[in-house]
Amino acid sequence: MILVLKQDATMNAIATLIDLLKTMGVSVQEIKGGANPMLGIAGDVSAFPEDTIARNELVETILHVREPYKRAGRRFHPEDTLVTVGNAKIGAGHFAVMAGPCSVESEDQILSIARDIAGSGATFLRGGAFKPRSSPYAFPGLGLDGLELLKVARQKTGLPIVTEIMSSEHLEAFAKDVDVIQIGARNMQNFTLLREVGALGKPVLLKRGLSSTIEELLMAAEYLINGGTENIILCERGIRTFETATRNTLDLSAIPVLKQKTHLPVIADPSHGTGYWHLVEPMALAAVAAGADGLIIEVHNTPQTALCDGQQSITPEVFHHLMKKIQRVRQAINVNNRED
Ligand code: PEP
Ligand code: MN
Repeated sequence: MILVLKQDATMNAIATLIDLLKTMGVSVQEIKGGANPMLGIAGDVSAFPEDTIARNELVETILHVREPYKRAGRRFHPEDTLVTVGNAKIGAGHFAVMAGPCSVESEDQILSIARDIAGSGATFLRGGAFKPRSSPYAFPGLGLDGLELLKVARQKTGLPIVTEIMSSEHLEAFAKDVDVIQIGARNMQNFTLLREVGALGKPVLLKRGLSSTIEELLMAAEYLINGGTENIILCERGIRTFETATRNTLDLSAIPVLKQKTHLPVIADPSHGTGYWHLVEPMALAAVAAGADGLIIEVHNTPQTALCDGQQSITPEVFHHLMKKIQRVRQAINVNNRED
């Protein structure tokens, strides 16, 4: 619920009210930007003495927020969230591209790709060290050795690294070494992991589950926020539908829907979203036109021998041309973007 306070409420009086509300077992958040000061109340409100609070002299009226997510929603936080990672920025008008292989395979491979994508203007290096694979016989990633190689690539190129965590046992290593912690589609509703990763307070890339609704994605973000981080980037990565021509169906409409419902930056993954390298470019451009704050794209120097997702990986050369087209689409739709 939202407490709309009287316009003349003083800062001191508001602070006292916040302290009182916090003793009632709920979380309290100041909402800025409206004509009146407002407080967002989230958490378990079943025992919240709403009638008493409504009679408080500072309170003008109480609004009920219909959506089950509160802190991830725009009603509690009307302004766009800007996620900053070193020099890289995403959200609030800043556009970013994350690129790199599905999996880190060797030092030569990750360094070669990292240098190429950095030269083409990518903002983040992606690469899986711990891979969720449908088959127990498929390449599971290099694990902690893969993390070490990502660190070398970061050091050589300056690109912050984005990589997926699969288990709580690696929280410490990720807290120390990873710039943006990815929670993959298959773990989007691993609520323990969400709480634990949120508590690290680091930026998180949260991918939409294969069969999850937009509301479920936002509820997963709410877990992260309640855990302790608001630096969350949401990712539409394709959902399961009856269509078999593509690996998944990239839900482009999720981008403007999310942009309306949440303050968090929203990116698209046309690689997993389609499953085919030749579909990556058209869907990347479509996602930009639909208002995405960024993209995550699989790039491999030798896709034909990639240990994972080669069929949907584009080469550094194709990526280079795509980056130019992305700029043109952004200019064409004339988004009121800040400097990237
Ligand atoms: C990935 O980014 O390599 C990945 C496994 O993504 P998703 O969780 O979306 O399948
Ligand atoms: Mn992949």
